[in-house]
Amino acid sequence: MAKCPKCGAEVTTPIKEWDARPNLHVRLYEHCSKKFREYGKK
Ligand SMILES: [Zn+2]
Repeated sequence: MAKCPKCGAEVTTPIKEWDARPNLHVRLYEHCSKKFREYGKK
């Protein structure tokens, strides 16, 4: 889950997610026609 940087809404469903590195998981969200990423360890 990530927060939209524009309106502050919580976005639960990523439009895309992938492993950038074995220890780094990236989730891409979209809201208010803005895309933002959230990084996390698995
Ligand atoms: Zn938004």
